[in-house]
Amino acid sequence: MFSKKKEKFQNNKMINEVEKRIPANVVHEITYEGAEIVVYTHNKDFFLNNEPIISQIVSELRVRVFVRAAPSLCKTIEEAETIIKKIVPDEVVLSHIHFEPEMSIVYLDVLHPELFYANAAQLIKEIRANTFWTPEITRLPSIKSSMTNMILSMLRGLPKKRKVFLKHTGQQIYADSLKKLEYVRLTCLGGFRQVGRSCLLFQTNTSDILMDCGIDVGYNDKQMLPIFNTPGFNIGALKAIVITHAHLDHVGALPLLFKYGYNGAVYCTEPVRDQMVLALLDQLDLAKYSDNVPLFREEDIRKLIIHTICLPCDLTTNIAADVKITLKNAGHALGSAMVSTMFFGENTAYSVLYSGDIKYGGTTRLLEKADSNILTNDTLIIESTYGGEADVHEADVRANFEEVENNLISIINKTITQKGNVIIPVLASGRAQDIMLVLSNYYRKTHHKIKVYLDGMLWDITAIHTAYPEFLSETFQRQMRDGNPFLDPIFVKVSTPGERENVIGQQGVIVLATAGMMNGGPVLEYFKKWASNPLNSLIFVNYQGANTLGKAIQGGVSKVTIPNNKGGAETIDIQLQRYTLSGFSGHADHKDILSFIQSLSEPPKRIIINHGEFKKAVSLSNTIYRLNSRKETVVPRPMDSLSLFKDFEV
Ligand SMILES: [Zn+2]
Repeated sequence: MFSKKKEKFQNNKMINEVEKRIPANVVHEITYEGAEIVVYTHNKDFFLNNEPIISQIVSELRVRVFVRAAPSLCKTIEEAETIIKKIVPDEVVLSHIHFEPEMSIVYLDVLHPELFYANAAQLIKEIRANTFWTPEITRLPSIKSSMTNMILSMLRGLPKKRKVFLKHTGQQIYADSLKKLEYVRLTCLGGFRQVGRSCLLFQTNTSDILMDCGIDVGYNDKQMLPIFNTPGFNIGALKAIVITHAHLDHVGALPLLFKYGYNGAVYCTEPVRDQMVLALLDQLDLAKYSDNVPLFREEDIRKLIIHTICLPCDLTTNIAADVKITLKNAGHALGSAMVSTMFFGENTAYSVLYSGDIKYGGTTRLLEKADSNILTNDTLIIESTYGGEADVHEADVRANFEEVENNLISIINKTITQKGNVIIPVLASGRAQDIMLVLSNYYRKTHHKIKVYLDGMLWDITAIHTAYPEFLSETFQRQMRDGNPFLDPIFVKVSTPGERENVIGQQGVIVLATAGMMNGGPVLEYFKKWASNPLNSLIFVNYQGANTLGKAIQGGVSKVTIPNNKGGAETIDIQLQRYTLSGFSGHADHKDILSFIQSLSEPPKRIIINHGEFKKAVSLSNTIYRLNSRKETVVPRPMDSLSLFKDFEV
């Protein structure tokens, strides 16, 4: 698993190609930044007027090229700061300027970038022309969060290491010359016939690529991790890792790879990076209060941050010599993405779409549904969390969203009227914000005085939502213009044990707390104290994984034993009312998945089912087979390897 292949870090092939096309006297340095190439110049004229030359290079070489000023050309930090403050209009609220001399970049942290979007290009041009620094604009969350500040400073720490890493990544991407594509093979390391520890290994004759690297929160032994000792898996051979979204069943084991020597890039969207860091730091924090040995160290998370390359949706990028990916909106949680992958060789190409977790139809207020406008598609790997035919009847996944909202409100009203409390266990990202929107809308309309306490990392994850409005639904963005519902005063942050004790002592309150499957986290503190009172209510709004405490409680057990902080355990008598509202689910159900497949721009030739309990995966597979002219459908086992493509006879 841990043997290291010799890395070829001396490759400058693509750089040489770019260099040939640029006047020699203007070049200070040319370097890779991941798949992109940056030209540093000491020539003012070339820095400001390079458009025709660069466009020509981009169209000839099909590589993205940027021009930045050499450090000797940049104004001093003091001079540049004064100029920038004069140029940036006051109303956008420029709260911090961070200079990155290693890359001649200046980060402008602003609160309202939308106020100059119309003039952004002009503003950037003006800053470049007057300071020779290249500005990058970061939107600060409108909810104050010390965690998001910490992530920003971690991201901007160690700029030298970051620059070296980006250079090595580019060298690696362009190192191997394009060969014939001989085969594409998928090995199932986790998340097949189960929900948890999602991890997929793709191998070609040139590259090994990993997609997702999660844990199964229902276990704390080796069943928690992807099956890394599967033959053929070698960390040293991995060229890249792609992460679909920040839920622990997709990222929980990722820092472990850095702990054991992974040195390459991790690709995901920007909001997924931030939420992933937060979720992993939270895991580390929770481990401190339990008997479990933490899987990884904080330094592994820091390394992960330096090695993460963020991609917007719909931009195609090389991640290895023979692999290109395009992230597509998955509609499941903020920034969640499907991965549309093209494996290619001299004359062949083979495409795979990995859905990750998707929501399609029955959309929530927060996000747009998954994007099915995807052109090439030889193999589709689709999730099946609620994919079983019975799910349509078993759960109200497709129930009208308003109906589910009304159910939620009526359970809450009934509970509060009788002076009971409401606990809603939530995954920090996705369902929590959906519930917050419903509550904010309702209490704004009715003017009822209520307190909704947010415990765990919900506050910080919600803050991240306010920093990336472009990833939220258009309806919600419009709503934000009339007042951000997340800033509603009904929401109160709980961050210390003392504050939590205070909330536990109250009556008639609502608590949203992690973990969503009750396998740890602050939700247990409320549950322990409130479980024996039949006037209280516990509402499940997200999927409860096999072997989790949430699943057992949802299933109706009358007692549960929960470990306490002192190394012992407590038996809890459950008298409170239990409800399940699966209409808030972030997953497509059986019908939604079928219509997603129908709506793909090109129908897939083979469909592989993952991320679902065995019965549900098989049920979905059978229906797809029946409805799609007996198309090849597969429900692989963990550790199975599938040959997706081969260019030779066997
Ligand atoms: Zn998920």
